[in-house]
Parts: sequence; C-alpha cells; structure tokens
Amino acid sequence: MSNEIIVFAEQRDGKLKRVSLEALGEGRRIADKLSVKLISILPGHKIKDLASTLTQYGADEVIVADNKLLEKYNSEAYVSVIADEASKIKPILILLGASSMGKDLGPRLAARLKTCLANDCISIKHSVGAGFPRPYILEAVRPMYGGKIIATVISNVPDYQIATLRPNLFSPVKPDEKRPINTKEVGAYCNTPLRTIVKEVVSTAEGIVDLTEARIIVTGGRGMKGPENYKILEDLAKAIGGAVGASRAAVDAGWKPQEFQVGLTGKTVTPDLYIACGISGAIQHLAGMSTSKCIVAINKDPNAPIFKLADYSIVGDLFQIVPLLTEEFKKLLSEK
Ligand code: FAD
Repeated sequence: MSNEIIVFAEQRDGKLKRVSLEALGEGRRIADKLSVKLISILPGHKIKDLASTLTQYGADEVIVADNKLLEKYNSEAYVSVIADEASKIKPILILLGASSMGKDLGPRLAARLKTCLANDCISIKHSVGAGFPRPYILEAVRPMYGGKIIATVISNVPDYQIATLRPNLFSPVKPDEKRPINTKEVGAYCNTPLRTIVKEVVSTAEGIVDLTEARIIVTGGRGMKGPENYKILEDLAKAIGGAVGASRAAVDAGWKPQEFQVGLTGKTVTPDLYIACGISGAIQHLAGMSTSKCIVAINKDPNAPIFKLADYSIVGDLFQIVPLLTEEFKKLLSEK
C-alpha cells in the first residue's frame, strides 16, 4: 500500500465535467491533511490538454490514458484503465464523481479491485486510525433508501477504499496556474479484447445543460397538463440561467425525454436552487432532489407533500405564478 489518492477525471467530448474538479478539490483537502500525493487518471482520446486544468485544480500528477478506444465512454475499457493503474499505485483512496458515469464505474471498479464502495456520498472524512500498520479510515455520509435515512458508513479495508461524490456538494479548490504540470502517458490499457465496442452515442438532449451539473433547476410535473406548457418553465429557466427537469409522471406521459427525469429512477440533483412546479412531492421524486440547497415549490394544493420539504412554498396556480416570477426575475437581474 502506497500513500496516494486517485481521482478519476471524467470528460465528455474533450470537456472536463465539473464533478471531477469537485472530487479533485476533496481529494486535495484529504491529501494535504494526510500529506499524501494526489493523482488524477484521465482516460479518453486526444484529451492530453486537459492535464493542465486538472493540475491547476489540485492534481500533483495526471495519468493520461489516450487511446482511440477510449474516445467514447465504454465501462469495460474505462474500468480496465483505472483498475490497471490503481493496482500499480495501490492508492489508499479512489474518488469519482457520482455522475451517471461515476455511478456506473464505481461498483465495477470496486468488484475488479475486490474492495468496497461508498456510493453517492454527501460528505466524507478520511483519517488515520490507531494500531500497526496504522489503518486509513474512510467515514462516508450518504443518503439511503431513497433518501429516507442518512447513513454514515465506515471502511477501514487496508486496500483501496472507493467513494463516489454527489455533484454540486463539494467545492473545487481555487485554480492555481503556477502549479507545475506532471503528466505520465499510458497507451496500452487492456490486456484482453473488449467484449463491447461503443460505435455511436446518440444524444436526445443535444445542447441541454446536464441536470446533475446545473446550479438552478426548474422542474415540471403532472400539473403542467401537457408538453406545450413547458415553454413557461423554459422561459423561467432561461431568465435565471437554469435547466429544466421533469417528474416521472411527466416523463411517463411522454411530455419530456427520460434525461429530464429527477428522482429515484431518474437523476439525482443538488442545485443551489430547485423550483418544483406542479409536483406533488412523492418520496421517489424527493429521493432525487432533497439535498438541493434551496427548494421552492409551487402547487395549488396547500397539503401537497412537497411543501414539507420546501424552503419557500407558493400555494397557487403555476400558470399564473411562473410567468410572474419570470418577469420579476428579469426585472431584478436587469437592474444589477
Ligand atoms: P402528481 O403526483 O400527479 O402531482 C401533480 C401535482 O400538480 C399535484 O400536487 C397537483 O396539486 C399539482 N397541480 C396540478 N395543477 C396545478 C396547477 N395548475 N398549479 C399548481 N399545481 C398544480 N417519480 C419521479 O418524479 N421521479 C422518479 O425517479 C420516480 N421513480 C419512481 C420509481 C418507482 C419504483 C415508483 C413506484 C415510482 C416512481 N416515481 C418517480 C413516481 C412517483 O411515485 C410519483 O408518481 C410521481 O413523482 C408523481 O409525479 P408528479 O408529482 O408530477 O404528479
């Protein structure tokens, strides 16, 4: 066992995901506390330039795994890269963002390295325990059972501990352009032929902000009454720089594609501001958004369960309230 921490650097189409910078920030804080080295693993194709950003955001070293077969995300290939490098380095901790990619990779990586995983953590602590050799202890706080409980799970496995971190909860470090770049390039990454090849990725939500990365989300549920009415949510989202989401009822009705769904079987989001419009607040919906920093709910039913969680409750008809909010926000923001 060496003394390093590894952070998986997630990129899509050559663009780093913010969640990786957040994981790097948390990795940096733990590495400084334990006086250990922070390494970032960056798989992809023609992505070497991203190493400088990872360095500015805290990596002491960046392992660049550049290969044509890594251009499009392929879980089998990506797991091979990270597991191979990790088994050479034998880090004390591996961090990934709890994005769709991170949630797919984390359990596979844990299985490959024969270790445990704390998934979708909302805070973590890493310390050195008593005894010889002194064990590293990972204390991870994570929502369980659809957010009904918040559990603290503790791992003191001597080999790799792995955690995925919920987006928008961990802050990146202030970028430092003067940090020296230290990269290591690895080409070959897979000893056995891949069983699956990703030939094409078809995005049904082209050009739309990824909900898991959005700082402001305006979500519409069955109360929207039909797909044509989402225009008022889009106007509000546009006025305040947000993204639009949907409840499962709206997705099941075919009003929005599945990528928009927030909740247990949709995306888990943690924006600074979540505005729920015409959403009742079923437990499965709350599972995906209850850790949002500020929740505003608009519902005509004063007894809607969403109001129990909301920081600001607006009882009334969303078709009257949403356009008024949009106009007010536009006025306020233009005064700035
Ligand atoms: P409803 O519960 O029908 O609520 C509509 C609300 O709109 C009502 O409160 C009503 O008062 C209000 N309303 C109507 N008209 C207006 C108006 N003009 N102005 C203001 N308010 C108005 N759901 C998810 O969202 N995400 C998930 O990931 C998810 N996963 C699930 C997984 C499982 C295994 C199961 C069983 C269910 C899951 N669900 C999920 C479904 C969930 O249980 C609810 O059925 C769903 O969240 C309800 O969506 P809704 O709030 O939009 O609709």
